[in-house]
Amino acid sequence: MPNQPAPATVPIVKVSPRGAARLKSGHVWVYRSDIVSSDSALPGSVIRVTDHRGKPLGTALYSSSSQIAIRMISSETIADFTALLGQRIANAIAYRQPLVRDTEGYRVVFSEADFLPGLIVDRYNDILSLQILTQAMDIDSVRLTVLAELTARLRPASIMERVDPRVRELETLPARASGLLQGEKSSTTFAMNGIQFRYDALEGQKTGAFLDQRENYSASAQYAKGDALDVFCYQGGFALHLAPRCAHVTGIDSSRAALEVAEQNAALNRDESPLEIEWIEANAFDLLKDYSSSSRRYDTIVLDPPAFAKSKRDLDAALRGYKELNLRALKMLRPGGILISCSCSYHVSQTNFLEMLADAALDARRTLRLIEVRGQAKDHPVLLNVPETAYLKCIIAHVS
Ligand code: SAH
Repeated sequence: MPNQPAPATVPIVKVSPRGAARLKSGHVWVYRSDIVSSDSALPGSVIRVTDHRGKPLGTALYSSSSQIAIRMISSETIADFTALLGQRIANAIAYRQPLVRDTEGYRVVFSEADFLPGLIVDRYNDILSLQILTQAMDIDSVRLTVLAELTARLRPASIMERVDPRVRELETLPARASGLLQGEKSSTTFAMNGIQFRYDALEGQKTGAFLDQRENYSASAQYAKGDALDVFCYQGGFALHLAPRCAHVTGIDSSRAALEVAEQNAALNRDESPLEIEWIEANAFDLLKDYSSSSRRYDTIVLDPPAFAKSKRDLDAALRGYKELNLRALKMLRPGGILISCSCSYHVSQTNFLEMLADAALDARRTLRLIEVRGQAKDHPVLLNVPETAYLKCIIAHVS
């Protein structure tokens, strides 16, 4: 299993012409079906990748179980992966320095987009939350190096690990519980765009905040007005940003635990933003159906559902789900209203999403003018040649 010592020689993995072409196009993944031979590559080992004739293509991390068998870390030969880890973490921190503003909560490391495949690190003020998604990043010596580098560079009070059990199963890694890896502090508050949020590493859904929406929150707040509805509000990210601009704000979510944190977040900001936000625990599909057939009307509606398309196969069903939600929202918006509509499904492209919205507009007999077509915050970089790194869509539209 992954904690075996590294072999003395670095295994060589040969890939098919299709795998090699993929790497030459700037992508960083090779699928298992494109492996010609894998030598004695152990789970999670650092490997040399060559084309089928033996021409070197670079250095990668190997997974013995994922369909994504190879994740490139360099087009060069890397002798010391530990040293590289430190350098990459330093680069990730430096990359964000000029780009990330007005926040104590942001993503410090975003996996492939920071050339650290399988490692995600989020910062919530003085607590770091780390996620490990591949065999290679789970090796003991790699974990220790990551912790030491993060500690030396960011000096957090504590570091917590957020485990995704499904991913560990796919990577055939032993089960682990989420929890603190270092330090004792398990809760903190962090400011984002001047608004306070609570972060509790041990309670609730343990997912932290949706930091990828940070810039969309402040963009949306510029246009928000009147009666606002935040559908799929989670811990109140959009609702709290809209509140200072609106007369009334309602947040809807099916998770009671999320709404409890939303209310705590609202309380943290009451001095600055005294508006009472109404939190409703409900299935958004059912509630929107009731609301849109009654005569409820709003001036601002946010739709930020969970990912409907987990794979390409789900695309049609996902688009139907998005359309139903958007259609109902459009019917409830007063003329001149603002729709903020999001999708975090990678498999739904921006084009798919805009077409779905155009369709919903036709059905609802409304006219949409796009104010902003947005994506994920800059601390979740998009690697242009790796389309999978771009997943979030956030459309802000004027509805008449
Ligand atoms: N807008 C939020 C993030 C939303 S994540 C933010 O900016 O922080 C998606 C949310 O949808 C989760 O909180 C989840 O609890 C909720 N959810 C999932 N299915 C739902 C349903 N059918 N009805 C209402 N909420 C749902």
